[in-house]
Amino acid sequence: MFEKARIRLTTWYLLIIMGVSVSFSLGIYFEVNQELGRIDTFQRARIQRIIDGIPVPPVTLPQDVDAIAEARARIILILAAVNVLILLASGAGGYFLAGQTLDPIAQMMKEQKEFVSNASHELRTPITSLKTEIEVALRDKKMTVTEARDLFQSNLEDVNNMQKLSNYLLELHKYEDSEQNFVRKKVDLVTTVAKAIDKISTIAKNANVLIISKFKPATVLGDEGSLIELATILIDNAIKYGKGGRKIIVRVDRVGKNSVFSVQDFGVGIAPADIPHIFDRFYRAEASRSKEKIEGYGLGLSIAKSIVDQHGGIISVKSKEGKGSTFTVTI
Ligand code: ADP
Repeated sequence: MFEKARIRLTTWYLLIIMGVSVSFSLGIYFEVNQELGRIDTFQRARIQRIIDGIPVPPVTLPQDVDAIAEARARIILILAAVNVLILLASGAGGYFLAGQTLDPIAQMMKEQKEFVSNASHELRTPITSLKTEIEVALRDKKMTVTEARDLFQSNLEDVNNMQKLSNYLLELHKYEDSEQNFVRKKVDLVTTVAKAIDKISTIAKNANVLIISKFKPATVLGDEGSLIELATILIDNAIKYGKGGRKIIVRVDRVGKNSVFSVQDFGVGIAPADIPHIFDRFYRAEASRSKEKIEGYGLGLSIAKSIVDQHGGIISVKSKEGKGSTFTVTI
């Protein structure tokens, strides 16, 4: 599909370039031709005067009329050769440019396909589990109330997982949508981060994690709801992956003209090979997939990055395996 589009674009580039080149050549040809015509007339008149025995003033113009016809043919030949060269060069250039134009679109489509395939894959797991459990239960004629309760409990977990995934997908769509107009106003970062900590305090308590806040006054121009979401994602990850340490440190500060917010944990850390990918959609480092099976879809950091992008900021990470990670947002 892209090869066809590339050829089509190349053809358009060629048509435009050749249109310009041919009209340019025609212009030159007619100009030169007119000039040669003028010399031709002059030359003929001179020859006639010589024949008639009338004295002619000495000139340095070509003596032979054939030389003019020859010059004309040469000009046509040179212009034709120049046009063929332009055709070849612009063909190659056009093909290259068309490729450059289409590559990002092809990449976007590839990512889109991968995204749909990943999302379907993640949805299939809970749906299959739900279906199998219900089918087995329907075949069991002697199911007790306790067994039925357990079944509902398990079904509910699957439904919760699907709900979580669909919420993530909706959020991703919301924050990646460049058309979406977020209301930007002056937001107090300390209050915003404190709200996120408050939102997540039950999860922290259940995980026995102490959140230490080190706040200095800082404000940003942005959307408070999105910023709370961003802080929640980073703090939630610090709790999830902060297994080794029982505390996390959340900082808000002002550095130069920027406001900085960071979350530090003392947990599993991230392998250097994983760091470039953790902001990709659906990416989960091997450690979080295998060991103790920490739940997640690999979408939190993609959402976080989209929110930071919406605010024109930067998100970065420093991490050491087994020692912990620090995610820093600078706006
Ligand atoms: P999820 O946590 O649902 O897997 P995220 O997009 O939030 O998805 O994170 C992507 C991956 O980055 C995680 O699977 C994990 O491997 C890694 N990661 C994120 N935050 C941390 C952290 N604080 N410590 C260690 N690894 C982390």
